[in-house]
Amino acid sequence: MVEVHGLTKSFGALHVLQGIDLGVGRGSVTVLLGPSGSGKTTFLRCLNSLEVPEVGTVRIDDVAVDFARRPSRAELRRLRAMSGMVFQSHELFPHRTALQNVTEGPLYAQRRPAAQVTAEATALLAKVGLADKADAYPHELSGGQQQRVGIARALALRPRLLLFDEPTSALDPETVGEVLTVMRDLAAEGWTMVVVTHEIRFARQVADHVVFMDGGVVVEEGRPDDVLVEPRQERTRRFLQRIL
Ligand code: ADP
Repeated sequence: MVEVHGLTKSFGALHVLQGIDLGVGRGSVTVLLGPSGSGKTTFLRCLNSLEVPEVGTVRIDDVAVDFARRPSRAELRRLRAMSGMVFQSHELFPHRTALQNVTEGPLYAQRRPAAQVTAEATALLAKVGLADKADAYPHELSGGQQQRVGIARALALRPRLLLFDEPTSALDPETVGEVLTVMRDLAAEGWTMVVVTHEIRFARQVADHVVFMDGGVVVEEGRPDDVLVEPRQERTRRFLQRIL
């Protein structure tokens, strides 16, 4: 469903992505691991057109972009519309209710009819276990609840692909589980997901594919039990020893 070839991205003299190749199967969960600064977030942002790579190609379903040919804004918008992003810290609008946070994108960016958007957003809040929090403001919600609103918000855009950037790393330990549970449910429903996370147990239980990045390249990838239990590369081994 997703095919990435030779993706590079620099910030000034810093070559953050140095030729990333990656394939993601439809309905699969890919976990991206790697040390801080290895380019994981930048890679996700490139998939979502929040960053524009210098060269390389990205195809998501039937939308293909060749960055070497300087895609138009319309092409970038089309690529962005394919995926929904869940950020490390939810980044909800503080003065809007949970429901308004979820309806914002579909109403104003996608200009879909209000009644339909509200019904769908209400159902999505119920799906992430927050049916009773529709009218709550972000400051009235726990970190885990806010992050679940963030997931509902990503789903409301009707993406084909879900991208998660360390969705639990800013949470109190006791609320991590509720967010991972929602993500497990989404995986079980067949969502295609790319997840940057250090939650190794989640990766072993839920991922179909694990990718270890370091220094802007994919160092090793494969099935969770291979990469996480018997990594072939020394760099992967050292990283896992540090975080486990
Ligand atoms: P990771 O997610 O693996 O921690 P990032 O993709 O966030 O890695 O960052 C990779 C490198 O790129 C880091 O050195 C970071 O400081 C740098 N970087 C990321 N975004 C920018 C930016 N907008 N401008 C300059 N440098 C950036």
